Amino acid sequence: MTDEQPELAVGADAFTQAGAGLEVAVVGGGAVGATAAYDLAREGTDVTLYDRGPIASGASGRAAGVCYDAFADPLDADIAGDAIERFRALSGDDTFPFAECPYVWLAREGDAERADAIREQVRQMQAQGIVALEAGPDDLAERFPAIETDDVEVAGIAGAAGYTDPAAYTACLAAAANGAGAALETETPVTVRTDPPRVVREDESVHEVDAVLVTAGARSKSLLADAGYAIAMKPYRVQALVAEADLAEPMVFDATEDFYLRPHPDGLLAGDGTERVEADPDAYDRDANPGFADALVDRVAGRLSDVAIDVDRSWAGLCTATPDRDPLVGELDDGLYVATGFQGHGFMRAPAIGERIASEILGEDGIDRFDPTRFDGDESFEIEAGMTIESDG
Ligand SMILES: Cc1cc2nc3c(=O)[nH]c(=O)nc-3n(C[C@H](O)[C@H](O)[C@H](O)COP(=O)(O)OP(=O)(O)OC[C@H]3O[C@@H](n4cnc5c(N)ncnc54)[C@H](O)[C@@H]3O)c2cc1C
Repeated sequence: MTDEQPELAVGADAFTQAGAGLEVAVVGGGAVGATAAYDLAREGTDVTLYDRGPIASGASGRAAGVCYDAFADPLDADIAGDAIERFRALSGDDTFPFAECPYVWLAREGDAERADAIREQVRQMQAQGIVALEAGPDDLAERFPAIETDDVEVAGIAGAAGYTDPAAYTACLAAAANGAGAALETETPVTVRTDPPRVVREDESVHEVDAVLVTAGARSKSLLADAGYAIAMKPYRVQALVAEADLAEPMVFDATEDFYLRPHPDGLLAGDGTERVEADPDAYDRDANPGFADALVDRVAGRLSDVAIDVDRSWAGLCTATPDRDPLVGELDDGLYVATGFQGHGFMRAPAIGERIASEILGEDGIDRFDPTRFDGDESFEIEAGMTIESDG
């Protein structure tokens, strides 16, 4: 971490004492845990943010940073809209970059099912006041000359969207939490125990608290299982790459071919490759599969007009799935909270999810639909890809 704490653009002067007298351990310094720690610390809570490695050493350090509010479901849209507003408000030269960039999601000719779904999603988004437009191939080509549209049946265009550097956001929020009074214990793997809530370090020292918040990403399942709690979540592996290319806008999700791309300071970032099998966070291959980058670059090149693409690097990381594809966010037991299961959309929602779980710990209502106890934890379920058109924009 840096010694200098970033000055966040808003809210840093709006501290209250709603959390005064409360002691909370946040286990996991990814985007969600760092945001929650910041929001708890701002309310006067005595917070410690633990990570087994450095800050952002889990999925948040490997994410693509695609952010948008284009969700047809009102709750998802509400959360994503709050998150975008917060990205905008907190970003800046001294904190982290947030580049405004339209998000286009599209179905190809011959893919009538997804095309209809996109039309319906745009209608639902417009009804909720979300800035979303339906576009055919000609409108799309005129608006975005960089993309190839001849094979497009229909696209949605979302205006409240952009991209950022997920590791920079997470480091910034952790540093801001520290600046607001939170202790950071990095390189400190812990286990969790309840009754009373506490975390136990590897040297067996114990930190007893009023509440433990588990934001341990793909490791949340094994961490909670070790404490006696089964959660309905499975980690799964996804891959991404960065390539040299000249692309200013937009971000694109090709729903028919199931890949996404966005501009990147080094050129472009693209991803796909969801593996629908449960991955082991301790043993998964962090490198992309041989052939992944070449195959994806071919598909990306077909979507872009006259853009030369040269792969620079590729990697793999873990996302987390649930049976109904909604996350598990809320209280599992007295003084034990969890936030995981984001289906590949955890980074873009982190500013809002972190804020909401912090409020719940401080006594506000949680998000009913995301209640982690809606499952027993022993459900058998299939892993569905994160960015499929059936469930979101
Ligand atoms: C290639 C890729 C691309 C993605 N693209 C996007 C995207 O464009 N948009 C989007 O919204 N989402 C994206 N995601 C998903 C996103 O990365 C996650 O949903 C999000 O980062 C989850 O954040 P988190 O804070 O819940 O978990 P994580 O970032 O995984 O953080 C968990 C932390 O817990 C720590 N930890 C684990 N166990 C312990 C322990 N016992 N003690 C202490 N610390 C522990 C870990 O070290 C880790 O730092 C992508 C993911 C990948 C892999």
